[in-house]
Amino acid sequence: MTDFQNVPATATGVIHIDLGQLAANWQALAKFVMPARCSGVVKANAYGLGLDRVVPALMKAGCQTFFVATIDEAKDVRALASDAAIFVLDGLLPGAEKALTDINAIPVLSSLEEFQDWSAHARKCNKALPTAMHIDTGLNRLGMTAVDIRELAAGRTLLEKLNVYLIMSHLACADDPDDDMNARQLNVFEGLLPLLPTVATSLAASDGLMLGAPYHTQLVRPGYALYGGQATKEPTAPVKPVVKVHARVLQVSEIVTGQTIGYSAIYKATSPRRIATVAAGYADGVLRTSSAASGEAGGFVAFNGRLAPIVGRVSMDLITVDITELDDETIHRGSWTELVGPTISLEDAGHGAKTIGYEILTSLSKRFHRIYTGEDTITR
Ligand SMILES: *Cc1c(COP(=O)(O)O)cnc(C)c1O
Repeated sequence: MTDFQNVPATATGVIHIDLGQLAANWQALAKFVMPARCSGVVKANAYGLGLDRVVPALMKAGCQTFFVATIDEAKDVRALASDAAIFVLDGLLPGAEKALTDINAIPVLSSLEEFQDWSAHARKCNKALPTAMHIDTGLNRLGMTAVDIRELAAGRTLLEKLNVYLIMSHLACADDPDDDMNARQLNVFEGLLPLLPTVATSLAASDGLMLGAPYHTQLVRPGYALYGGQATKEPTAPVKPVVKVHARVLQVSEIVTGQTIGYSAIYKATSPRRIATVAAGYADGVLRTSSAASGEAGGFVAFNGRLAPIVGRVSMDLITVDITELDDETIHRGSWTELVGPTISLEDAGHGAKTIGYEILTSLSKRFHRIYTGEDTITR
């Protein structure tokens, strides 16, 4: 198991992150959407993978435009990427104007109020500030409404002092290519653009860019796909997995019929069971919703490519898995078990926890040992 050769003896778990594959994923998506351009969405610490390693790898691959959620995240990206364009999806919080201009980050503004504040700041600085605009085309989460857009367009004074770089929107149902919501949102977006300055536009994230060329507009914003995730039923994106997560077995025990396992005794053995206790719990991103009471399905781990179900409650630091059916005498104290990897995809892990792969990534353990590989293989 060469994967574990360089792992310290004290590590209860290890996360392998293949930066070479991350870069290859970005390049494959960039090629796929040409002539549109491709950015990198690195919010939430690059979906849990580590901003400080992900941003340099993406830059080496050719990425020059980043999206983050918060201004603090933008600050971290700026420290790593002095020339990159950095868009802040959460926009302008009251009083945060200077924090944005200090690092030359571009707020994605979602309301007339934000436009008023940002434009007032531009007048104060006597500088045309870089600006992006978010239009809500049906997600009803964040963005300007059609009414706002008309008011903004009619006034124009708000736009005078601003240098609008990008107009964007976000799709609600891009993971289902058959949903008419996609075309409806594209229509609304295209219908509003003539009211606004002619600048670059952006609509698609990871799933949206697989909907075809009309959705690419000038810039796509993949996050999840860069990290190897594919949320659509039919995985069609030209990307491969980037992350593997393994944890160590602490103990293997034999349970007799009638005994229960774990907190609240929600699992009861109806026959003799062989149980491996693994050093990964909800504090390591094995979400507590992966628990399994008797007769219920929960999450899975894998040993040498074969699945073993979690039984009983997931606790903070530990899970108990049923390895009876594997009939594998080689599983012992110190063995490695896969939580995410070639046998259990991000989607599988998300499904086992009654959530999505995105949440598995952003919940990755902060105390597991991390191994980054492949950075030296990245070429443009
Ligand atoms: C998070 C986010 C993205 C990236 O989404 P993925 O599905 O991870 O590709 C793009 N745009 C907006 C507005 C987002 O919030």
